[in-house]
Amino acid sequence: MYNDTICALATANGMGALGIIRLSGDDAVGIVNKVFEGKNLEKAKSHTVHYGFIKDSDETVDEVMVSVFLAPKTFTTENSVEISFHGSPYIGKKILEVLLKNGARMAKAGEFTMRAFMNGRIDLSQAESIADLIASENEASRKVALNQLKGGITNEISVLRTDLLNFVSLIELELDFAEEDVEFADRTALTQLLHKIEDKLNALIESFQYGNAVKNGVAVAILGKPNAGKSTLLNALLKEERAIVSDIAGTTRDTIEEVIHIKGNSFRLIDTAGLRETTDEIEKIGVVKAKEKSDKADVLIYLIDVASQDISEDVAMLKELLREDLETIICFTKIDEHLVTKHSLFEDIKRLTGNENLKTLTVSAKKNLNLDELKNLLTHFVDNLKTDENVVITNQRHYEALQKSLNAVKAVEEAVNAKITTELLAYELRNALEYLGEISGEFTNDEVLGNIFSKFCIGK
Ligand code: GDP
Repeated sequence: MYNDTICALATANGMGALGIIRLSGDDAVGIVNKVFEGKNLEKAKSHTVHYGFIKDSDETVDEVMVSVFLAPKTFTTENSVEISFHGSPYIGKKILEVLLKNGARMAKAGEFTMRAFMNGRIDLSQAESIADLIASENEASRKVALNQLKGGITNEISVLRTDLLNFVSLIELELDFAEEDVEFADRTALTQLLHKIEDKLNALIESFQYGNAVKNGVAVAILGKPNAGKSTLLNALLKEERAIVSDIAGTTRDTIEEVIHIKGNSFRLIDTAGLRETTDEIEKIGVVKAKEKSDKADVLIYLIDVASQDISEDVAMLKELLREDLETIICFTKIDEHLVTKHSLFEDIKRLTGNENLKTLTVSAKKNLNLDELKNLLTHFVDNLKTDENVVITNQRHYEALQKSLNAVKAVEEAVNAKITTELLAYELRNALEYLGEISGEFTNDEVLGNIFSKFCIGK
């Protein structure tokens, strides 16, 4: 099969010490050789680097280093070349123009990775983890993506899938001997295997909560009565832990949120625009608005001025906001001004809201007191989401495929229990196999592929 040669800028589009242009395809070396002055690259061995110049007819465009990688031991399994040039976007553009003139074409978004997948070098979940790795904004998401790139989820699932495949063969054999009423596939062993698969799928599905927190950050809402100290706390947290929010394609979010990183995890402080403006006129934030905000949150930090004589309004508000899956931290603030002597405040708030699970602490945002404790509570929240699984699901598509697989496996189990016809059982089994295969891309369609790879940047 002939693969046309694609090229693209592989480094970020901006000024840098160096930039890299990458080519992949049958003629990758030939095309670069036409515009390279230095040596004959067609004679170069694989995985070698060469010094020379890129020429546009008689004109020298730049002094470069060219790396030659010959098929099949390359990322795409095709002939590949990387040109390192002096990192000016203008030079990069000029070199790309020269390559296009000489027979290469611009790569589409994700096309290098798509070729790696199409040529069997990586499976689909690995391709997706490359996109995740490129987009990783914190330590935890980097680790999880890297683990998946090593084939984490696919390995776990392919073992189970192979076991199931054995049963499918046996069941299909039974179909061949339908007249004779024989059972080659031990139904008890099949049920045991189905249970094992269900357990694994459930565990992987469960890991998504942590995976999602790692990949997208934990959504945190800061609420409390006017003047409780919300914006002061926000600013104190931002001052210490504010993240550099990058603007990578595919990671743009619906709303602008402040992001802080604590111990390798990201926390998104949601809907903080109002908090950051200092207005003289203090608008009382209504229950509806507060609820809207806390509904979007995984964690609620609720502030109460420690000097408050009457906390009935806070209690009423909290009763509206509390949910089972909302981690709630009550911060009694301004302890620099009012030394707290009675810890009965903690007991009061738990008793009055009828919620023993509230986390409570005292802080001063102004004097930076106990903010580390608050950060520890946030970190613990993420740590508690961790499951025993080595592999963590971070990808919505995988999550959905796992759920579909689980339903399909349950359907097989029901079919076995109902002693349904062998034909139908075989059908359900094939169905389950197909869903399990969706994750690694063994079963997939062009639409799904197009959707996945279009989210990549050009050059990836
Ligand atoms: P918000 O309306 O909840 O956002 O409250 P602000 O953050 O604007 O704070 C209201 C007032 O309380 C301001 O005058 C702050 O300086 C003050 N304040 C906030 N946090 C603290 C604190 O920890 N200690 C002290 N002493 N004052 C604070």
